[in-house]
Amino acid sequence: MTRNIRLHPEYGFNPSMIVCPYCGEPKAIALLGNSCKKEAPHAIWDGSYTPCDDCQNKLKEKNQMYLLNTNPADLTPTGEYILMNKSIVEKIFDKDNIKEDIYIARIPSEIFTEIKEKIKEGSN
Ligand SMILES: [Zn+2]
Repeated sequence: MTRNIRLHPEYGFNPSMIVCPYCGEPKAIALLGNSCKKEAPHAIWDGSYTPCDDCQNKLKEKNQMYLLNTNPADLTPTGEYILMNKSIVEKIFDKDNIKEDIYIARIPSEIFTEIKEKIKEGSN
């Protein structure tokens, strides 16, 4: 994809780091140019819930995945998540629906809250 960048008169390419939503580490650089009317923030989130390569490797290694709390109407994440062992996730949900290469599951907030309460009960 090729897009022309209009340079910001004061900040030029006006770069910002795109960070992983889980570990906060930079995963790419965004050149905002003049599309950002002020100086670009140091770090931004691009709206993607896909973990960075490092996080994906750690999840794979530890056999874990993120459960994202989502709005039941459209499954947009609320920003809250639980890191859970994949074997437990497979016990809670139909194993056929858990694909080997996925690291996130969007869970409607009602069910998410239920899971969170169960974890709380279990840790007390
Ligand atoms: Zn990460």
